[in-house]
Formats: sequence, C-alpha cells, structure tokens
Amino acid sequence: MIVVFHPSATRNQIDAVSEAVRGRGMTPVAVSLGDATMLVTAESADAETVAVVTAAPNVARVVQISGSHRLTTRAFRAEDTRVPVGPATFGGPEFVVIAGPCAVESSAQMSAAADAVHEAGAVMLRGGAFKPRTSPYSFQGLGVAGLALLAEQRTRTGLQVVTEVVTPKDVEVVAQECDMLQIGTRNMQNFDLLRAAGAAGRPVLLKRGMAATIDEWLHAAEYLMHMGNGDVVLCERGIRSFDRSTRFTLDLSAVAEVKRLTHLPVIVDPSHSTGQPHLVGPMSLAAAACGADGLIIDVHTDARNAMCDGFQALSGEQFAALMGRLRPVVHAVGRSLGAKPGAKLAPSLTTV
Ligand code: PEP
Ligand code: MN
Repeated sequence: MIVVFHPSATRNQIDAVSEAVRGRGMTPVAVSLGDATMLVTAESADAETVAVVTAAPNVARVVQISGSHRLTTRAFRAEDTRVPVGPATFGGPEFVVIAGPCAVESSAQMSAAADAVHEAGAVMLRGGAFKPRTSPYSFQGLGVAGLALLAEQRTRTGLQVVTEVVTPKDVEVVAQECDMLQIGTRNMQNFDLLRAAGAAGRPVLLKRGMAATIDEWLHAAEYLMHMGNGDVVLCERGIRSFDRSTRFTLDLSAVAEVKRLTHLPVIVDPSHSTGQPHLVGPMSLAAAACGADGLIIDVHTDARNAMCDGFQALSGEQFAALMGRLRPVVHAVGRSLGAKPGAKLAPSLTTV
C-alpha cells in the first residue's frame, strides 16, 4: 500500500497515519517524492484499512500496486519526477550536464577540470574518490582525501559535486561531503549498498549494470526508493555486447523505454559507454534528441597523464565545442542548458 499525502500535510498528520498503519500489523516507511510525502508498506492492506487511511486528514490518495515494480512506475506516478541537486534540476525543462575527470587526482587537476567545465556550461562536477577498478594494481582513488578536493571545487565554482560510493560503510562520509551519490555499474545490484544509499538523504545517480536488463535496473531503483529516497536519477552507461569496437554498447533505446516505464529522470554517460572521445559528441547529441534528461561526461585537461580512463576523456576545449553543438539540439527538443552556477562567496567577501 502507498499512502500519498497532500504537500500541506503536517508531520503530526503523517505520524498519526503511520501509527494507525503500524497498529494494523504493517510496517510503513516514509518516502519523499517531488513535493509529496508518502507512506509505503511492503504489505497490501485490507479494505477496512484503506478506508480508514483514506479518511485521514491530508491524505491525497491510497494506492495498492501489486507486482515488484511499484514506486518507480508511471502507473503509480504519471508525471515526471524532478530531482533537484542544488540549483540544477533533473527531469524538468533543464538538460543537466555533469562533467569532470574519471578520478580525483589532485587539487591542481580538479581546479583545472572544474574551471574548464564550469566555463563551458556544465552545472555539476564529477570525479571519483573511491574507484572500483578492474585490477587491484590500478589506482584505487584518493578516498576520503578526494572527497575534500571535490568539496573545495564546489566552494570555488558553485558546481554541485557527484561521486561514486562503493561500499555501505562509506555512504555516510560521501553523503556528508558531496551533493549526489553515484552507484556504479559494478554495484547496481549490491543490495546492501542500495539500502544504505537509499537511507542517506542525498539524491542518487544509479548507473545501469553493464549486464543488467531494464527490469533489473528499475528494481535497483525500487531498492533506493523504498528506503525513503525519491531523488533517484538513472544513468544509461552502456551494456556488454559481442562487439569490442566500443568499450560497451550504448543502449539509447533503453533511455526512451525507461522514460516510458518510469517517472524518474534518465541521463546518459557517452564516455564510459563508448570509451572513445570521438564518439562522445555524436552520442551526446543523440541522447539529448531521444529524450535523456542530461549527460555525464569525462573531461580531463591533461588526459594523457590521467590516472584513470584518460583514453576516453575530452579536453576542456573539446568539451566546450561539444556544449556549443549540444545547445541547438537541446533547444530543438524543448529544453535548455542550465544557467552557469555562481561561486559561493565566503561570507567575508559577500557584497552588500
Ligand atoms: C564512473 O563514472 O567513474 C564509472 C566508474 O562508471 P561506471 O560505473 O559506469 O563504469
Ligand atoms: Mn571511469
């Protein structure tokens, strides 16, 4: 059962319904989605419970959805969900561009990347502090020290920061330091991690598992949502196919299909999917044209010396040129690129 409250519902009214539901042997979890709060139970309710709950003050509707896709479905919520991350909003008229290096390497590297992507019009900065590497001998990321370097760039530029979390024990510190948590392809079905990220109180960018069906991907989103987190953004990042000419196979049909099935925003990673800088531009334009809500793009100002995935990164100049080509396509589908965020000035520098 899903109990949807009017946005004007008070904490006390929600708690009262929660208690009533609990008294009937069910376990409600509060979930925020858009501007509404909901109480969600895994159990379905009997007719009497539905009647009692429906009559409670500020209850907008009570929905009983059977089956294993519930909170993610358009059957439950027809309208697009908007996920705000600072001044950027996924799923609305704005086409959100996230850019930055694969891995956080140093303060100087992050400053150069942040300046380049900010100048070109990205509204969020990416960078991995905890890297899930195929080989244990590859650079594993700076860990917590890398989170501080991301936060430093947020202060300098006003860009919101997204970074991957690879283990439940790090969810809390990543949620403290960053604006959005990323669940990577290799962890899409790490259910403990999904539960921890769902309870962290931060928006989550959920990448598609490289061998995951759309059905499995949306179930992973259900894990996040049923823990209370409605701020979920999906990311198509390519799936494994027989063809080794690209790193993965970018499944753009999945973007249109997932937009039909779910109300959640969907963005595309043209960098990890193709693994080739010359394909990042065409796939970015195609993603915008087929209804994606944004992009996450690898940008490194010294890709040759990058510690991770430098082969697929755009330079600052290449990224700026791509943003120029992207603008008319985004406009053609009725969207716009977000406004450049301003740097957060330290209080002593604030002009009055
Ligand atoms: C990344 O974005 O840094 C990353 C590792 O992506 P994926 O999980 O899609 O491979
Ligand atoms: Mn990478």
